[in-house]
Amino acid sequence: MAAPGENMRVNADRLWDSLMDMAKIGPGIAGGNNRQTLTDADAEGRRLFQAWCDGAGLTMGVDTMGNMFMTRPGTDPDALPIYVGSHLDTQPTGGKYDGVLGVLAGLEVVRSLNDLGIRTKHPIVVTNWTNEEGARFAPAMLASGVFAGVHTQDYAYGRKDPEGKVFGEELQRIGWIGDETVGARKMHAYFEYHIEQGPILEAEGKDIGVVTHCQGLWWLEFTLTGREAHTGSTPMTMRVNAGLAMARILEMVQTVAMENQPGAVGGVGQVFFSPNSRNVLPGKVVFTVDIRSPDQKKLDGMRARIEAEAPKICAALGVGYSVEAVGHFDPVTFDPTLVATVRKAAEDLGYSHMNIISGAGHDACWAAKVAPATMIMCPCVGGLSHNEAEDISKEWAAAGADVLLHAVIETAGIAE
Ligand SMILES: [Zn+2]
Repeated sequence: MAAPGENMRVNADRLWDSLMDMAKIGPGIAGGNNRQTLTDADAEGRRLFQAWCDGAGLTMGVDTMGNMFMTRPGTDPDALPIYVGSHLDTQPTGGKYDGVLGVLAGLEVVRSLNDLGIRTKHPIVVTNWTNEEGARFAPAMLASGVFAGVHTQDYAYGRKDPEGKVFGEELQRIGWIGDETVGARKMHAYFEYHIEQGPILEAEGKDIGVVTHCQGLWWLEFTLTGREAHTGSTPMTMRVNAGLAMARILEMVQTVAMENQPGAVGGVGQVFFSPNSRNVLPGKVVFTVDIRSPDQKKLDGMRARIEAEAPKICAALGVGYSVEAVGHFDPVTFDPTLVATVRKAAEDLGYSHMNIISGAGHDACWAAKVAPATMIMCPCVGGLSHNEAEDISKEWAAAGADVLLHAVIETAGIAE
C-alpha cells in the first residue's frame, strides 16, 4: 500500500480516453459537444458515466433534481463524505472539457485509489450536477442551487426551455428523477476541478490554478428613452440621443471598473437599439451592464457609483432613464483549509501554481453555501470556452487530477 505523501499520480491515459469517449455522445458540429441538459444525449452520457462508476465499484444515489452521487465507501461509519464533481451537460456549441473534466477526474481519482489499494476513512462521492450550464433552462447552476437552498424545487421544475418544454417533465422523460430528497446529503468537503475558461494560467505558464474566490456579480439592465428622429435632418442641438447616453454610460462603467482594480471587471455584452435602423436615432436603448468583483464591498460600491452617475449622464442629454437589477451572485470565499490543501498538493507534486479567482459561476459556488468547498483549475488554450474549439492538453488534464487526488486523500484520510 502507498504511504501518505508518496508521489502518487492518476492514470493520465485512462482519464484522457474517458474524456474522448464521453465526447462521442452528443457531438457538436465543429469538433465540440452539444449535450444539453435533459436531452437524450444527456441521458446517454449519464448511462455511460454510471457504467464506468459500476465498474469502479461505486454505488449510485440520484436525487429528485437528477443529481448523480456515486459513492466509494470509507472505513469510518461516522465520517461524512468528500464530494468531488462538476457537470456533464454542455452548451449547445460547447467544448469537451467544461464540467466533464471535473466529473471524470473525480472518477479517475477513485479508479486510481482502487489501483493503489488505498482505502480512505471518509467516503468519496463523485458527483454530476444537473443543468449547470443553464443554456436550455435558465438559470445556470440550477440543481446545485436547489441542493444548497438557493432555489426551490418547484421553481426549478417549472423552468421552460425556448420551445416551451418544462424542466420537471423533461427530467421525468429522460428517466433521471431519483428518489433522494434534494439537499438532504451532508458534505465534509466539496472539491471541483474545472478548466479555467480564461487566459491567465496559460499566459503565466502555470499548471495549476489554486482558486481562492468566486467573483460576485450584478447584472444591471438599463432602459434609456430618447426620441426617434431622422439622422440626417435632425440638427445636433435638437436631438434626444439615447445611443449617445448609452455610449457615455459604457465609458463610465469602464472607468469605475478600472478604479476598482485589482480583480474588478465591468462591461456590456448585450444591447438592443430600437428601431435599430441606420438612419433613425434610437427612441429606446436597452442594455445590460455586467460588473463583477470578488470583494462584496467593492462590488456593491461599483453598483452604487454606476447608478449615481448614469442618471446625471442621461439628464444632461434629456434622455429618460430607468435601471433594474436582473441578476446577482454574492462573491464566494472558498474554505481556507481546503485552499491550502490544494496549494500544498500542487507543491508536493512539483507543479507550478498560482492563486486565481473564478470569473465564471460554478456548482462549487453554491456548494460553498452548505459545506467547506474549493476548486482547482487547469489552463485552456487561448482561454477559450463555451466554444466547440475549447482545448486542453492531456498533461494539463492529468496535472489537475493529480492535485485533486492528493487533496482528496489528504482530506479523506488514509485508513490504516
Ligand atoms: Zn462548467
